[in-house]
Formats: sequence, structure tokens, C-alpha cells
Amino acid sequence: WTSMASSAVLLVTIIFCFGYAVQTIIKQKKISEIKNDFINNMTHEFKTPISTVALACEALQDEQVAVQPTFQKRYLKIISEENKRLGLQVEKVLQMAALDRKDFKLKLESVDINDLIENAIDNVALQVQKRNGTITTEMKANPAKILVDQMHLTNIIHNLLDNANKYSPEDPEILVKTSNSKNGVAITVEDHGLGMSKESAQKIFDRFYRVPTGNLHDVKGFGLGLAYVKTMVEAHGGTIEVKSELKKGSTFEIHLPYGSEA
Ligand code: ADP
Repeated sequence: WTSMASSAVLLVTIIFCFGYAVQTIIKQKKISEIKNDFINNMTHEFKTPISTVALACEALQDEQVAVQPTFQKRYLKIISEENKRLGLQVEKVLQMAALDRKDFKLKLESVDINDLIENAIDNVALQVQKRNGTITTEMKANPAKILVDQMHLTNIIHNLLDNANKYSPEDPEILVKTSNSKNGVAITVEDHGLGMSKESAQKIFDRFYRVPTGNLHDVKGFGLGLAYVKTMVEAHGGTIEVKSELKKGSTFEIHLPYGSEA
């Protein structure tokens, strides 16, 4: 009996170890797939503006172009826009680094939330207009002053607006609202774009998650924006939720406390 029992224990141990080893291999494979996807996406996002700037510079060095002010203006505009795009991509990678630094400290200041949102809208308005889209606002928060980290809150709003634009296949129509909630302000960003299923909506705040939409749209990204948004909203003592319906659109709703500024 003793030898049978010890054989059984040995067998169970072997099965357990084998199971553990298989699980570890699967996990590592997933991590390496995520890493590869991330590097592919990042390379694409950096390479495109870099090669566009190189092309525009080359064109500017052409003697025939150099004497025509309209061409000069056009190529300089391209360089400036692509440079901005590169800056935004770098900002995203920096945001990821902020996520990893668990000890990040918020620089809290008293900010008018309506003004901050209007400024964030100015930064994406051009891109939306280029796609025949509109951004409408209903800023009703009054009082509107809250204690926030201005840079992080601007990034939060920028990420939501950028997504609303990116995930609207055509003519993005975006509505941004602020109002007063129980102990603070509510901010909503609504679009009529791709929307998503309930299952996807539960995962979009996870790092690296991107909704698998097949050929429906080919928008590059890192799958990190919303993970950053949620971490930062919660660091401010706030909450974020999404309501979405496939092919109808999505509404992101943030609640932020006043801090001591009410
Ligand atoms: P990224 O846009 O870089 O992929 P995010 O973390 O910002 O990363 O978003 C994660 C995923 O959530 C996106 O890949 C997209 O599939 C989905 N998503 C985000 N915002 C929207 C939106 N407004 N409409 C539809 N899908 C969205």
C-alpha cells in the first residue's frame, strides 16, 4: 500500500508539474505575442511620420520646389504636422512609462474643467475636420473648478477624443458634455462610431487589449490609451465607465470629485 500510495503521489506531482510547465509556456507565448504586436505597432506608428518628413525634406531640397513659395509652405506644413504626430506617439510611450511607475505623484491644481476640455478639443479638432467630422459641446458644469493634474487630465480627454475619431469609420460626430454630479463633475464623450460588444467593453481598459475587428478597420494603436486613462482617473479618486453598442457608438463617462475646490 505504501509503495502504491507513494507512486500515486509521484504521479499526481508529475501531472501537476507538467500542467504548470504547459501553463507557463502558454503564458510566455502570449507575452511574447503581445510584445511582438506592440513592437510592430510602435514601429509602424513611428516609421510613417519619419519617412513622410524625410520625403518632404527631400522635396524642399529640389531647386524647382525651393523657388515656389506655395510648395515650400505645403511641405513645411506637412513636416510640422508629422512632427506633431511623432510628438504624440512619444507622449503615448511616456504615458505607458507613467503607468509602470506606481509611485507617480499627481501635481494637483485648481482647474476649470470646461476650459481644459475646450483646449483639449482644439488639439484634435483639425484631425476631426479633415474627416468631415464635428465636435459638439454642452459644457454645463457650474461650478467647474476641480483639483486635478492638468497634464494627465488633458491626456485623458485627448485619448478619449482621439479614440472617438479613430473608431468612427466616417464623418465622426462627437459630443462632449460636462455637468455636476453628486460630489464633483461628470464628463461624457459620445461617438456614433464602431461601438463594441459587451464582452469587448469589459476588456478595453486592460493593457494591450484591442477589439478584434478583422478587416472592418485598420487603425493602429498600442492598446494602452484606455489603461492609462483608467489608472489616472482612479488616481484622482474618480471612476470611468463605457456604454457601447456595436455599430451604434460608444459613450465614455468619467466622474471626478471636486477635491477641496467646490
Ligand atoms: P488603442 O486605441 O491604441 O488600440 P486604447 O486602449 O485607447 O488603445 O483602446 C483599446 C481598444 O478599445 C481599441 O483598440 C478599440 O478596439 C477599442 N475602443 C476604444 N475606444 C473606442 C471607441 N470610441 N469606439 C470603439 N472602440 C473603441
